[in-house]
Amino acid sequence: MESSPLKKLEQLEFSLDSVTDLSSSPSASPSSPAVATFSCVDGVTELRFLQSDSTHCFTFDLASAQLFKLGTVQFICVSDDNSEEERSFSKGVNIKFGSEKDSKEFCDSFEEWRKDALVHGSSTVSASKSKFDDKIEASSAKMYFHYYGQLLHQQNMLQDYVRTGTYYAAVMENRSDFAGRVVVDVGAGSGILSMFAAQAGAKHVYAVEASEMAEYARKLIAGNPLFADRITVIKGKVEDIELPEKADILISEPMGTLLVNERMLESYVIARDRFMSPNGKMFPTVGRIHMAPFSDEFLFIEMANKALFWQQQNYYGVDLTPLFGSAHQGYFSQPVVDAFDPRLLVAPPTFHAIDFTQMKEEDFYEIDIPLKFTSSVCTRVHGLACWFDVLFDGSTVQRWLTTAPGAPTTHWYQIRCVLAQPIYVMAGQEITGRLHLVAHSAQSYTIDLTLSAKMWGPGASQGGILQSSTGKFDLKEPYYRMSQPQAYPAAQEPPLPPQPQLNPQDIQIQSDDFEEELLQEPAQNASTTQL
Ligand code: SAH
Repeated sequence: MESSPLKKLEQLEFSLDSVTDLSSSPSASPSSPAVATFSCVDGVTELRFLQSDSTHCFTFDLASAQLFKLGTVQFICVSDDNSEEERSFSKGVNIKFGSEKDSKEFCDSFEEWRKDALVHGSSTVSASKSKFDDKIEASSAKMYFHYYGQLLHQQNMLQDYVRTGTYYAAVMENRSDFAGRVVVDVGAGSGILSMFAAQAGAKHVYAVEASEMAEYARKLIAGNPLFADRITVIKGKVEDIELPEKADILISEPMGTLLVNERMLESYVIARDRFMSPNGKMFPTVGRIHMAPFSDEFLFIEMANKALFWQQQNYYGVDLTPLFGSAHQGYFSQPVVDAFDPRLLVAPPTFHAIDFTQMKEEDFYEIDIPLKFTSSVCTRVHGLACWFDVLFDGSTVQRWLTTAPGAPTTHWYQIRCVLAQPIYVMAGQEITGRLHLVAHSAQSYTIDLTLSAKMWGPGASQGGILQSSTGKFDLKEPYYRMSQPQAYPAAQEPPLPPQPQLNPQDIQIQSDDFEEELLQEPAQNASTTQL
């Protein structure tokens, strides 16, 4: 292995105004002027702080040391104890420089010497693959963090005023949960939630962000001097980084479509286990996936029509029909993302609750939800509609952020799994089934849906299942349908109970309509939605 130029540089010294041991009482280790020395001894890159009266000396292996900026001239330097399985900090000092210039030079040198230590040293930090890398494909992660590294996508979330406004209200209405507390912002993005926490009086916020957005967050926070001193941006994954202290409260926006898409809830609970003190709080605290069967003849026809292209036997002399089945299956494997009229629901919804304070990371790998509904109307059921809400269980106010149909629309919209084979139900008839979610390494889920309707009338006594329909969907490949005209009333109506449906048989589909659909493929509008 090639040796780095820094190895040849034997030693580098900086004068400090003070160094204080974090782990002992101020009287045992009073702050006093000191000298910081970077050195490389026998292949180990070290940073040593020696108090000028030589009373205390603190030595850090740079391969496991981290520096946290507390202000323009103040830092905390910590190193973790690699010998233990559960990582903890064995050492920490508070250091202060005489000038901003000294502070910056020290910071730059620290980065360079640390890089050198990681590349050439024997650190377990650099050698070990993180929990995130173990389960997520590198190509997926690369695209994911590239997406969030762009301001336009952060802007899209910031401009979802239902989302951002609800977070703001939840934080401000629960100031007592933030005032004087240590906060970790899990996946800070632009840093907006960190700045909300700081506005609510947080003592210190650690804003952890893995994408390049961390640099923008630094810039944005630095431009807001009211709280810049109380926020430290840390670039890295919550699975990998270290923090100098435990948090009283975690704040995060880890929700994807169907709540679980993007698999960031797993990072949220990993952050909980790594950084939250035992009686800490989580904002949000609980999430719920809501589900109800729906009937939407127009959507069903639209989906079926897409595959009709492959029914052509003479496409420039080529018979396309061998691929009709695959195309049809492909379209019906895409969950549909749009805002729909709640009157399309044919039964009162049920929900599946996920307690973020209790859920283990592994519990997210497979989520199995048994379904049972009672149809309110006589209709054709085309599939399952899903949405979610999350609760901020504050000490003062409990606030819900909902993405329900009929509520003000968010950038998550709602999601519908459309079955290629609809089922017929009567009013009062029971619909049973199962929604089975299995996580995959591309930061999403494979969805298996089964809906069944028991026999109605005299045959029911025999207990047989009359109809059952199944579908397989990839949550990573949704069909964004937001550009479709939505003939929904502007006025807010109570979402439930569902109103009587139009009888599907009353909807006349002319064969001409099929051709028109084929010619006018609706434009997909993926840019308005979180991944
Ligand atoms: N908190 C911001 C951004 C939310 S989007 C807001 O509310 O506006 C989620 C952010 O989390 C993205 O910027 C993404 O890059 C980041 N993220 C996702 N997984 C992460 C992980 N494991 N570690 C650190 N950041 C992560």
